[in-house]
Amino acid sequence: MAGGMAWGRSTDVIKLEKIQKRTLLTISDLTDAWQPAIEGEYGLHCLESRRHYDNIKYLYKLFKMDDDRIPKRIISRKWTKNKTGSFVSHTNYITKRWRMNSPEEIDTASREDIAEDDPNIQNKIKNAWKSHAKIAMNLRKTVDNAKNHSENNKFYRHLIPSTNKIKSYLYCYNKGNKLKLAATTSSLVERKCPLCNQNDIILSRHILLTCGTTYKPRITTLNKLRINWKRNYDPIHFMNTLYNADPTNQIVSDYLETAATSYESALNKIELRTKTSEELLGKIIDIRQNGVWYRTRIVKYNNATGEVTIDSKHLDAWPFNYNILKIDELKTDELQAIKIRDNNSLSFTKLGSNAGKTIYIKGLPYKLIKYTGRNRYETSRGKINLNFFISNGSLNECPFNGTVAKRYASAKRRESNALRYGVT
Ligand SMILES: [Zn+2]
Repeated sequence: MAGGMAWGRSTDVIKLEKIQKRTLLTISDLTDAWQPAIEGEYGLHCLESRRHYDNIKYLYKLFKMDDDRIPKRIISRKWTKNKTGSFVSHTNYITKRWRMNSPEEIDTASREDIAEDDPNIQNKIKNAWKSHAKIAMNLRKTVDNAKNHSENNKFYRHLIPSTNKIKSYLYCYNKGNKLKLAATTSSLVERKCPLCNQNDIILSRHILLTCGTTYKPRITTLNKLRINWKRNYDPIHFMNTLYNADPTNQIVSDYLETAATSYESALNKIELRTKTSEELLGKIIDIRQNGVWYRTRIVKYNNATGEVTIDSKHLDAWPFNYNILKIDELKTDELQAIKIRDNNSLSFTKLGSNAGKTIYIKGLPYKLIKYTGRNRYETSRGKINLNFFISNGSLNECPFNGTVAKRYASAKRRESNALRYGVT
């Protein structure tokens, strides 16, 4: 039906709003968000506003309709009861809330700018009404957001929601910007930080702004940005700096990406705690055996025993004569002998197949852009020899690869000591 004569709230509308939220979460790969905020970042109106906009468009149609047309007669007739639910009262409420002029006023005002014999006069007036409605709707959204003092909106109300297009940082959806979106739109789910154990924190914001595990890179970044943190560090101010930074600002991008790495490992830790062995099928994991770490992949889940089969092919060496493990035993609090990794984790046995991954050297991200042969890569920070960096221990502190990289570095050192001391 043109213009949508259905108005008022119904459970269907709530369902549709939920679908919009779920779609946005899928697009952004987040698990939860404060809906008005994520809509604001993607430049969408809530469905209720969009329906209101349809009603407003229809209002002008009615205004142009001859008085004896049936829809107009139905809508304009005097209601004896239940008047609050009528189209007219509902639409009047919207035009008032949006601070709009009446169709008559827009009609008169538009005619002043259009030649009387313009063949498109009707269309032009209609478009003037539509754009008047759109501007009013957008302004309303901005004002509503600033005035929304609810606990959930405490953070977002200081930002300006987009009303027509996605925010520019989302065009380049790398993991740094994903963390930025997560921190910007986070709902108020308080939990314990799996990295530093602080209680009652909002994970994305905490890791970006206050977590102990991101302290060092954060201080470096604050210094580089010349933000005073020693006297009184203001997390919200820092968040705003990160949020409003130019996309080409390397200092901010580096910090976002570094913090995003911590965020991912926090999520992986939570995942490990909450997921069953079966749900971990296909995941790359690092596990500790005899005090050192090995990288492998879960390739099979055995229903009867609850054990998993692992395969280290194209990831790492596996010198043991077994390939079946019990995940639940490895993940106990005392042992903590397993870490979930993602596709960004290096292959140590096929050094040439790591293009596209990001490694960390001295806290700085190096994106491995292109493999150029003999263990060498072109990276976002110039050419490097990956094998050399692993052997000399440069990757030992890399949050993704440090565990296993240490084994390779120390093996190399043992070798050279052996050579030096003539041990064979
Ligand atoms: Zn923390």
